[in-house]
Amino acid sequence: MQPQILHLDLDTFFVSCERLLDSRLLKRPLLVGGTGDRGVVAACSYETRRFGIHSGMSMKLARQLCPEATIIRGNAGTYTKFSQQVTEIIKERVPVFEKSSIDEFYADLSGMDKFFGSYKYASELRNLIIKETGLPISFGLSSNKVVSKMATGEAKPNNQMRVDHGLEKSFLAPLSIRKIPSVGKRTFETLRGLGITKIHTLQEMPMEMLISALGVHGQTIWKRAQGIDRPPLVPFHERKSISTERTFGKDTTNMEQLKTTLTAMVENLAFHLRTNEKLTSCVTIRIRYSDFQTYTRQMKIPYTSADHILIPKVLELFEKLYQRRMLVRLVGVRFSDLVSGNYQINMFEDTQEMLSLYHAMDHIRKRFGDRKVMYATSMGAKTIGSLHNPFNGEPPIVLAHRNQ
Ligand SMILES: [Mg+2]
Repeated sequence: MQPQILHLDLDTFFVSCERLLDSRLLKRPLLVGGTGDRGVVAACSYETRRFGIHSGMSMKLARQLCPEATIIRGNAGTYTKFSQQVTEIIKERVPVFEKSSIDEFYADLSGMDKFFGSYKYASELRNLIIKETGLPISFGLSSNKVVSKMATGEAKPNNQMRVDHGLEKSFLAPLSIRKIPSVGKRTFETLRGLGITKIHTLQEMPMEMLISALGVHGQTIWKRAQGIDRPPLVPFHERKSISTERTFGKDTTNMEQLKTTLTAMVENLAFHLRTNEKLTSCVTIRIRYSDFQTYTRQMKIPYTSADHILIPKVLELFEKLYQRRMLVRLVGVRFSDLVSGNYQINMFEDTQEMLSLYHAMDHIRKRFGDRKVMYATSMGAKTIGSLHNPFNGEPPIVLAHRNQ
């Protein structure tokens, strides 16, 4: 059986959502992101691209480059809802699929060929999504995820492309090496330094040569250039979660201690989200009382990995769940419905200062350990002996059962 892997990608997703909500924005240059001078561009319409605007750029600069652009402060809640709508449509029609980010999906259509013809099936799925949600979406279909994703890139905007079995290499040959997923700026510069700009050149090189230029990464790049890298799908029902829980040495009703512990847990989990470029859209907390009765409560939230969004949500859930006013034996926090995203931590309220603050804090954690910087509220100066406090030399918090 020949593998048929479909890649679906919503076109300029945040921009398209805004245009659905307000048709006056159609065909106008549009920027979505932080609206203040210190804000960051999270998404930009095709009309702004010829001005040199790209996502991740400071809003101030983008505004200078294209003064006529309409600037909209994005709303993560809206986009999360649209994203879930699309997910539901795909879920109903495809047995195995992966949601790889808020606006990107892979589906395994292998074996459908016999009944429907996978290209026809993919076209119908795409048309259905467009009809039911109003959002433009593109797809690529081929024998593997990498080629399909690159085919989507070539098809865009609002179109589709199929690369038949055996034609992967010739499809890739004329494309820029920049288009290979995982070729970042540094790899691109290294390769360009060697005079390599087109995939065709990579295809002609022996793999060993690429490995000596790029290290182990070179092997992946080489395989991708040949169209033979086949990373597996991560099925949606196995979407990962990350969680932690803590059993107190002595059961407690001390609210301050409970909240401090939860805050420290969120901080730690959110750091791991960011490190792995994940966003969560579901928060769960768990309380076990001294009589071993266990209660959980969860909340859907817009995709985020920001402490300052997650901490208040978790504390709010705790307030709602902690009803029995009796001794607590254990508390736990779980973030689930994770998607990958090289988005900012909290797409639209971010300022450059906020992003650099998180960046700096995470950098310290990576270098020196994940409890080396923390919010003053989670230090638990006197109330939590077992939490690590840099000022009193207490031992580090033990984050047991952290599953990823
Ligand atoms: Mg997209």
